[in-house]
Amino acid sequence: MRNAGLGGWPARRALMSPNRTAFVFDGRAVSHAEVHERTTRLASSLRDAGVRAGDRVAYLGPNHVAFVETMFATHLLGGIFVPLNFRLAAPEIAYMVADSGASVLVYAPECATAVRGLPGLSTVVALESPMPGELEYETFLSGGDATPIDTPVALDDIALILYTSGTTGRPKGAMLSHANLVWNCFNIMAGVDVASTEVTLISAPLFHVAALNQTLLPTFLKGGTSLIMPSWDVDSCYDLIEKHRVTWMFGVTAMFAAFARSPRWADADLSSLRTLMSGGAAIPVALIRTYQQRGLVFCQGYGLTETSPGATFLEAGESVRKVGSAGVPVFFANVRVVRPDGTEAEAGEAGEVLIQGPNVTPGYWRNPEATAAALTEEGWFHSGDIATLDDEGHLYIVDRLKDMYISGGENVYPAEVEGVLFEHPAVAEAAVVGVPDEKWGEVGRAFVVPRDGVALTPADLADFLRSRLAKYKIPVHVDIVDALPRTGSGKIHKPELRTRPLPPGAAP
Ligand code: AMP
Repeated sequence: MRNAGLGGWPARRALMSPNRTAFVFDGRAVSHAEVHERTTRLASSLRDAGVRAGDRVAYLGPNHVAFVETMFATHLLGGIFVPLNFRLAAPEIAYMVADSGASVLVYAPECATAVRGLPGLSTVVALESPMPGELEYETFLSGGDATPIDTPVALDDIALILYTSGTTGRPKGAMLSHANLVWNCFNIMAGVDVASTEVTLISAPLFHVAALNQTLLPTFLKGGTSLIMPSWDVDSCYDLIEKHRVTWMFGVTAMFAAFARSPRWADADLSSLRTLMSGGAAIPVALIRTYQQRGLVFCQGYGLTETSPGATFLEAGESVRKVGSAGVPVFFANVRVVRPDGTEAEAGEAGEVLIQGPNVTPGYWRNPEATAAALTEEGWFHSGDIATLDDEGHLYIVDRLKDMYISGGENVYPAEVEGVLFEHPAVAEAAVVGVPDEKWGEVGRAFVVPRDGVALTPADLADFLRSRLAKYKIPVHVDIVDALPRTGSGKIHKPELRTRPLPPGAAP
């Protein structure tokens, strides 16, 4: 086989374990042999639609088995898969489609409004109810030929473009190569006992690097089963765990906290769960203890989209002794904590986390400036996270260099929200910070200064923000203020804004 990338995986698995279940979606089991046949047919249809090596195929929708089929089919042709965050607002999606130069889009019915008028697409495939000029997914797929496809693909070819927002400017497309993804799978396997009998619950969104690369891909590689949930829902989660005897579950703190708050927590049969993996933020000690009382222990990871994502890993057995730590470098990567001048920080001294290894992105799509700013010549990636290392080499994330907060597992870059607020004709100045929130971990709080003589209320901003930004990015708290606090150098004093008490009644 000349395809060294992920596109070859379905064929290889179909040879080794044709009858084992690869995916369960919507109550239906799909075997490895079926995944191979369906992705081959879909790739053949995509090729007939003009897709060639290096072309971009975008996917927009909640988790669905079609997401994985479209990804493998794109990779079979040497194409680049561009999963889009379906929670984004239409203008945000349009930007990513245009920037990636995608020629094909596969989308779910929930996203139909965002798809109208997207630029540059030659083929639009709807999972259901296609509009005039669009194709219907199953018809498109089944019209394809099942003759094996053997396009040459190298491990260093780009497999994914994943859009991440940044502290400046527009979102950037982080490129991940097939090799990046394979090495991330090895890193997972060096830390977790992934088995061919694995039953992995995919409850986090697949467009995010963690659900796709940390759980679904290693499970597939080993020939295990991934249960694909369309979206996160506590009750379905319990149902699936009990029915399919789930062994591996990945989530962010907000998901694990909601799961433990359920009335089913005390009596559900959770005895099949072997691996609970959390990522995105340090898991609170109280939650670790709650799960321990139920005989469940977390392994934890730290990483970024740009590191595919695993950069450090804390084994389950270490989660109490090293509570609050993000762990040690994953097996095939190096991690340093450095001072602003680039020299090594001492144990206990805070500095920026740099990561180097075969899991690190080759750079940002068509954005050499952003690539040069993020990667050193020796391939060290600047994470923008501040951490300390203890004397045993365990990493503790303590702060962020980048202006970002995390709400329910989604990153929010205040600069992006502020940029939209500035577009409002009545806004003179705006600053957004993340504030603690019991349910979401953090939520946004905006401080807005109206233009002279203009009356402005938070309600005036609500519709404006809703039409331009994903819901999770919209500040939950909006304060209309006369002025913003400044530092000596004239920058907005965000640390002060973060600690301002919330008005009565708005407490988290
Ligand atoms: P993303 O690119 O969406 O995966 O987000 C990456 C960012 O999430 C990192 O730069 C960190 O700021 C944050 N993050 C990820 N894992 C952890 C963790 N275990 N502890 C604290 N922050 C984390």
